Amino acid sequence: MDTLDKLKILTGSARYDASCASSGSSRSGGEGSLGNASSGGICHSWSDDGRCISLLKVLLSNDCRYDCAYCVNRSSNPVERTSFTVEELVGLTIRFYRRNYIEGLFLSSAVEKSPDYTMEKMVAVVRRLRQEEKFFGYIHMKIIPGCSRELVKEAGLYADRLSVNIELPSGDSLSRLAPQKRKESILKPMALLGETISANRLERKKSRSVPRFSPAGQSTQMIIGASPESDHRILLLSQGLYKKVNLKRVYYSAYVPVNHDNRLPVLAKPPLKREHRLYQADWLLRNYGFSADEILSREHPFLDEHLDPKAAWALRHPEFFPVDINRADYAALLRVPGIGVTSAKRIVAARRYAVFTPDGLKKIGVVMKRARYFITCSGKPVERLFDRPALIRRKLLAAETDTSQPPLKQRQISLFQ
Ligand code: SF4
Repeated sequence: MDTLDKLKILTGSARYDASCASSGSSRSGGEGSLGNASSGGICHSWSDDGRCISLLKVLLSNDCRYDCAYCVNRSSNPVERTSFTVEELVGLTIRFYRRNYIEGLFLSSAVEKSPDYTMEKMVAVVRRLRQEEKFFGYIHMKIIPGCSRELVKEAGLYADRLSVNIELPSGDSLSRLAPQKRKESILKPMALLGETISANRLERKKSRSVPRFSPAGQSTQMIIGASPESDHRILLLSQGLYKKVNLKRVYYSAYVPVNHDNRLPVLAKPPLKREHRLYQADWLLRNYGFSADEILSREHPFLDEHLDPKAAWALRHPEFFPVDINRADYAALLRVPGIGVTSAKRIVAARRYAVFTPDGLKKIGVVMKRARYFITCSGKPVERLFDRPALIRRKLLAAETDTSQPPLKQRQISLFQ
């Protein structure tokens, strides 16, 4: 098998990994159109400053000895198997970079022979890229659960971001659907990364000569809908991970059925809407000061599919509203549907010189079709509906109709067309 054949197989096999933000769509550009999308190849990721980066998204190997029920690469599936050598993958990355196809590498792998064997090869790829090829592009690398601590620590010296996939929201589901994986073998490297990233940041404050360790932090991916856990349980888990292991992002990946297996649910289509709502709720955890127990509870364990989680929270908490735009503090402003971090900051800054009216709010970016039911401006309501949550819900749903589609899921640009 030549390198191009391997590349086709191993970029195709990587497409179900959502933690690089891009996969799954396939579309050919016709005559007169610009570009195309295919299920394997180059994905896009976003840097901290908002820049979009093109990455070669590829597996080192799809020759897996594990048999996870939900995975196309599981050992019991009759798919074509192959693995790159270290030299092949280093050479491809450099050639694609020189041709301006990519700005970096997203490297993952199936478990070839053993976690340590696989991880040693992956570390050898990134070590060689950094040390011998002097490659300074972005590298996102997966940690193979069960590999040794030393390999995790070495990987962090070369990769910008590392991630250990948590895969499923509970230990029970992991044992049932991925019987060769252990909860501890996933959580331990996550904890090690969290500690090492924090310690490295402190050391670098004292001396800039200390080498950087995974400077873009760590992330993880969780499959949604392959197992029975509620959204509440999923958000509690994400919240715990953000707090305990210094995680940068949890990527939620709607379960896409690729195997027939009676341990898996039968779904008419992947739960993309649920995935979308979880991303919105996760955003509330990370940026809006909400806790998982505020967003959901034992009594309300699932997110409202029709309404964004912030609006759903507001309707369940009429006692919190109305919020007066000209008096409320920043934290209270952030709880208003239609007011984001930027507009809340603008309101607080501009209030020193001006009194806000509904028109002024629109001009600074407040989404009035949502906010109008929950605010007053110097005591004057925009809408007098505070005591009619059912009617507000209907109006919010009508306003959401145009925008409630989940974002176009994950595109990749083909390397082969
Ligand atoms: S370890 Fe499991 S999820 Fe990963 S490639 Fe192998 S079968 Fe798939």
